[in-house]
Amino acid sequence: MVEDQLIGRGISDPKVLKAFMNVRRHRFVPPSFAADAYADHPLPIGHGQTISQPYMVALMTESLRLKGGEKVLEVGTGSGYQAAILAEICGQVCTIEREADLLENAKRILSKEGYKNIDFRCGDGTRGIEEAAPFDGIIVTAGAPLVPETLKLQLAEGGRLVIPVGGMFGQMLVAVQRKGDEFTEENICGCVFVPLIGEYGWPERG
Ligand code: SAH
Repeated sequence: MVEDQLIGRGISDPKVLKAFMNVRRHRFVPPSFAADAYADHPLPIGHGQTISQPYMVALMTESLRLKGGEKVLEVGTGSGYQAAILAEICGQVCTIEREADLLENAKRILSKEGYKNIDFRCGDGTRGIEEAAPFDGIIVTAGAPLVPETLKLQLAEGGRLVIPVGGMFGQMLVAVQRKGDEFTEENICGCVFVPLIGEYGWPERG
């Protein structure tokens, strides 16, 4: 997986590649999909949600430009896989998920895998986590209609926010960087994520 799907497509940060070597992805997928755990596509994890394709997790992580030891926020815990990758590189990971069942499942797996530097929250991550801010990096693993201002304002100086932005069924992966009170935006690539639902995301249906 690392050679073909990541290095072969240009992922080069040694910290990111090492994290992928260390995290056992098969532990994070439902048992019925274990045989496909290292395949080149997303997989269902329940509640209509997905664990992202390995390459997309790597690209988003690399786009944070981490040096190691940072405090990072993840919005959309899902399976917990992206949180594990971040926990390999960062000092502290805060991860927030709106579906309580998914959060509990991810918490159980991450604790079994031995991670002690992850903080879990259940709630609407479009608001960020005010009391834990500022963050050196913020990664949003669901697609937003716009970049939430609240998340930009919870970035530390020089911090980066990586987020898919666009329509319900297709988005652009965007990296936002903070310099003082100014924010620069850079488009990374097209992508398809499940919708980010919340106050500064999409409204809940039904
Ligand atoms: N990072 C995950 C991928 C999760 S898919 C992984 O590695 O497996 C996106 C997740 O975002 C879903 O679990 C969905 O429930 C969650 N989500 C959507 N809107 C959210 C919000 N406003 N706050 C927190 N989580 C949200």
